[in-house]
Amino acid sequence: MVDVIIVGAGPGGIFSAYELLRQRPELSVLVLEAGNPLEKRKCPIDGVNVKTCIGCKPCSIMNGFGGAGAFSDGKYNITNDFGGSLYEYIGREKALELMHYVDQINVSHGGEGTAMYSTAGTKLKTVCMQNRLQLLEASVRHLGTDINYVVLENLYRELKDRVQFRFRTHVDRIEVLPEGGYRLTAGEETFTCRECVISVGRSGSKWMESVCEELDIPTRSNRVDIGVRVELPAEIFRHITDELYEGKIVYRTQKYEDLVRTFCMNPSGIVVNENTNGIITVNGHSFEDPAKKTQNTNFALLVAKHFSIPFKDSNSYGESIARLSNMLGGGVIVQRFGDLERGRRSTQARIEEGTVRPTLAATPGDLSLVLPKRILDGIIEMIYALDKIAPGTANDDTLLYGVEVKFYNMEVELNDHLETRYPGLYVIGDGSGVTHSLSHASASGVYVARRIAEQLQG
Ligand SMILES: Cc1cc2nc3c(=O)[nH]c(=O)nc-3n(C[C@H](O)[C@H](O)[C@H](O)COP(=O)(O)OP(=O)(O)OC[C@H]3O[C@@H](n4cnc5c(N)ncnc54)[C@H](O)[C@@H]3O)c2cc1C
Repeated sequence: MVDVIIVGAGPGGIFSAYELLRQRPELSVLVLEAGNPLEKRKCPIDGVNVKTCIGCKPCSIMNGFGGAGAFSDGKYNITNDFGGSLYEYIGREKALELMHYVDQINVSHGGEGTAMYSTAGTKLKTVCMQNRLQLLEASVRHLGTDINYVVLENLYRELKDRVQFRFRTHVDRIEVLPEGGYRLTAGEETFTCRECVISVGRSGSKWMESVCEELDIPTRSNRVDIGVRVELPAEIFRHITDELYEGKIVYRTQKYEDLVRTFCMNPSGIVVNENTNGIITVNGHSFEDPAKKTQNTNFALLVAKHFSIPFKDSNSYGESIARLSNMLGGGVIVQRFGDLERGRRSTQARIEEGTVRPTLAATPGDLSLVLPKRILDGIIEMIYALDKIAPGTANDDTLLYGVEVKFYNMEVELNDHLETRYPGLYVIGDGSGVTHSLSHASASGVYVARRIAEQLQG
C-alpha cells in the first residue's frame, strides 16, 4: 500500500505530486497515467502521410505526461474571473496565491524570460466599457507551446526518481476499502493507497462519470460553449495583444442578452484542428519562437449554453453541432465574414481572393447552416462591437472557422477540501468540473497536496 495514488499526470496531477514531495518527501507517491511519457507523445498527423485523426489509443494530444496542456499555448491566467470556480471552494485570495505559486515553479523550471502580461492599469478597460464590452481582469504568463514543453521536461526530470510513474496505465475502477484506503484496478493489476487524488481532465470525463455513479458521488451538469474561431491580420489586434497578450472580453448581446466572450487569443498564431472523441473542432496556438510567428491573430468567440430540464446533457448538444459541421465540411468549415453577412457560402476562390491567408486548410462553406441562429446572431453582434475597439475586425475578409466547442466536465460534489464524501478521495483539475484551465487545475493540485500532507501524519 502506497501513501498516495494520483490518477492522471496532467497539470493537476503533476502539481499534486510536486507539492507532496516538497511538503512530505518521505511519503510514497504513485502516479498512474493512461498515456505515454512526454517524449513518446507523438501525434501521427503530419499533413502528408497521415492527414486526419486515425483515433490512436491513447491519443498523444490529450493523454500522457503534461495532460491536455502539453502541446497547448501555455497561457497561465492568474485570475478568478475565468478558468474555473476554484475560488468558490478555497476562497479568492487563496486561489490567487496558489496560482502565483504555480507561476513561480513554472518560471524556475524553464519559464524564466517569458512574458507576464496584466490588465492592471490598462486604458483598454475604459474603451471596452464605452462600447458595451467588458474586459476581464487577469495576469497572464505566456509560456508558448515550445517553453511549456521545456517546463514539463524539467518537472518530470525532477520528479521521476522520487515519485513512481506508471504510464500506459488506464485506471478502470476505484473501490473503497472497508478498512480504509482505496483499491485501484488497471487491467490485470491492482494498486492500493491510503489517499487518492483523481485528476483525469476532460479526456477522463466519461470515466469520471462512471466512477461517480458506482460510488454514488453526486454530480451536476455543466455548460457547453459553442462558437467560431476568428482569424484576422495581427495588426488589427496588435494594440491589445502587445499590451495584454490576451484580452478576455465579454459582450452582452442587445437582441437576446446572451453573453459572448473572446477566448484563447493567439497573436501571430495558427488555427488548428482539435479532435475530441473523433469529432473535429477548431482551436488555436501560438509560439514564442519568432521564426514560427504568422501574419495573423486568432481567437474564439463563444456563447455559453446550459441545459437543465428536461434535457440536461449540454455536452451532447455541443457534440451534435460539431458533428453537423463535420458532416457538411468533412471537418472544420471556414467562411469569410463578408460571405456570412451576404448569406452565401465561401468558396475556395473567394477565400483566395481575400486578403487574409488562412493558417488552417479548412473546407470553405456556410456556418449559418451549422450554428443555431441565436448563437450566430450573438457572434455577429460581437464582431461589430469588437470592430469599435479594434477597427477592421468586421472586415469582409475576416475568416471564421467553425465550430469551436468547449466541453466541460460535470461538477462533482466536493467539500471545501475538494474531497468527495469519502475521506481521502479527492477530485481535482478539469475532471472535477471545478477548473478548466492550466493555472486553476495546477493550483487545485497544490491545494489538495497540502491538505494530504497535513492529514497523513505518522
Ligand atoms: C489544444 C489545447 C490548448 C489549451 N490551451 C490552454 C491554455 O493556453 N491555457 C489554459 O489555461 N488552458 C489551456 N487548455 C486547457 C488545459 O490544457 C486544461 O485546462 C488542463 O490541462 C487541465 O489539467 P488537468 O490536469 O485537470 O487535466 P488534463 O490535462 O486533461 O490531464 C488529465 C490526464 O489524466 C489522464 N487520464 C484520464 N483518465 C485516466 C484514467 N482513467 N486512468 C489514468 N489516467 C487517466 C489523461 O491521459 C491525462 O493525461 C488547452 C487545452 C487544449 C486541448
